[in-house]
Amino acid sequence: MTGSIPTVKLLIDGQLIESNSKQWRDVINPATQEILAQVPFATAEEVDRAVASAKTAFKTWRKTPIGARARIFLKYQQLIREHMKELAAMLTAEQGKTLADAEGDVFRGLEVVEHAAGIGNLQLGELANNVASGVDTYTLLQPLGVCAGITPFNFPAMIPLWMFPMAIAGNTFVLKPSEQDPMVTMRLCELALEAGVPPGVLNVVHGGPEVVNAICDHPDIKAVSFVGSTKVGTHVYNRASQAGKRVQCMMGAKNHAIVLPDAHKEQSLNAIAGAAFGAAGQRCMALSVVVLVGEAQQWIPDLVAKAKSLKLSAGTEPGADLGPLVSCAALDRVSGLIERGVAEGATLELDGRNPQVSGYEKGNFVAPTIFSGVKAEMSIYREEIFGPVLCVMGAATMDEAIELINANPNGNGTAIFTRSGAAARHFQEEIDVGQVGINVPIPVPVPMFSFTGSRASKLGDLGPYGKQVVQFYTQTKTVTERWFDEEAVGSTVNTTINLK
Ligand code: NAD
Repeated sequence: MTGSIPTVKLLIDGQLIESNSKQWRDVINPATQEILAQVPFATAEEVDRAVASAKTAFKTWRKTPIGARARIFLKYQQLIREHMKELAAMLTAEQGKTLADAEGDVFRGLEVVEHAAGIGNLQLGELANNVASGVDTYTLLQPLGVCAGITPFNFPAMIPLWMFPMAIAGNTFVLKPSEQDPMVTMRLCELALEAGVPPGVLNVVHGGPEVVNAICDHPDIKAVSFVGSTKVGTHVYNRASQAGKRVQCMMGAKNHAIVLPDAHKEQSLNAIAGAAFGAAGQRCMALSVVVLVGEAQQWIPDLVAKAKSLKLSAGTEPGADLGPLVSCAALDRVSGLIERGVAEGATLELDGRNPQVSGYEKGNFVAPTIFSGVKAEMSIYREEIFGPVLCVMGAATMDEAIELINANPNGNGTAIFTRSGAAARHFQEEIDVGQVGINVPIPVPVPMFSFTGSRASKLGDLGPYGKQVVQFYTQTKTVTERWFDEEAVGSTVNTTINLK
């Protein structure tokens, strides 16, 4: 680390501290290449200290009354609202997305904080009276202890907020944000402290593979939530499961939309262009493949026109529809995949490479790009491009399109555009994808439901936030109790398994 550049702090035991690490990396504005800060790769000793602090804090936190815990989330949601503009500006500077979309990123996380404030109602057990004579059975949902979260670069506000608010409703937590854009995540953690989260309940360590592996292996961590690529998620799932932890991993995607010829053309193409190119395609729920059915295959020129109308610029520029890719490495990857698409024979309808973005000549920009004639064996179809690149395919019938989607290994999200209720119902019945939109391009559920990506997009049974994550972050304890009624005490010994 060097003198005048700000450093990103660790959060251990309620204190923001400077890391002792010798390994640091720059946090870079992807529109300008300006160095915004330096982030440490925490040492093994620092990871241990964060976990130890969480372990100690759990002893008192788990006994803190529900109302006291819930009131912290009520205060926290208020603080996030008050700091919305500041958080969005920080997010845009380090991640690149537009300011409006950055506010959306914070807001979709804020919704989870609001939901966590209702933890008293969400974490209720069940009771059955008189399951046998004088016997009642009830369940308690008890927190696990120290939990940990590992997050990706593309939603540096929403995804940490998917994790730690619901986790610390009863547990304590160690968060490892993306090393590419950790600043807004840290600001959200500072606000959590200001809202009253006690020392040790929420800790943050920064870093890369070594810190992630230390989390997977640490004997005092009981559960790990991961969101990121399929390769790393699979590694985390295997390694942390081997170490006996509960693990949930939300991973990569290839999300298809089907457009039927009876769909509202204007509305459908607007939705598809927004979902394919918004956030420069760096969303796990981005629509990256559109399957035009029958006559709808004639709509390609209209789709290209929509894509061309979008404004590419720094996320801070008024009217920008999409910003840069997060890094120079991402720019190289996406450009390389476009090149492969051409080499493998897809038709490049719109080439977004090397765009001129006035005032931001050094930015990692790719403009909306569209391929048609895409085949299932091509690299641009098999790989998650994670850039503003849309693959267009054709199908004669809806069933042919459904078959294509079901044959793809991923199952994060999908959508259909149609005016036919019967077609929509057939689609949602037959499609093997965990999150389905009907005339909704990015069907990310609100927090009273859970994020339910499926198949290769997910490892573990329970998804983030909502009811499923209440299960994930708690152990169900079932208590069967009998209080003897003095007059009813019998004199026989029961050697059967039956409750009598
Ligand atoms: P990534 O997998 O590179 O990084 C995720 C986290 O893993 C980061 O904290 C990173 O530091 C860590 N990491 C990176 N390499 C590692 C390694 N070799 N060993 C151990 N840890 C490592 O993902 P990313 O590029 O930050 O995010 C984009 C990916 O995340 C895309 O594939 C996207 O689809 C996926 N994603 C999925 C969802 C979902 O809900 N399914 C949501 C958002 C993003």
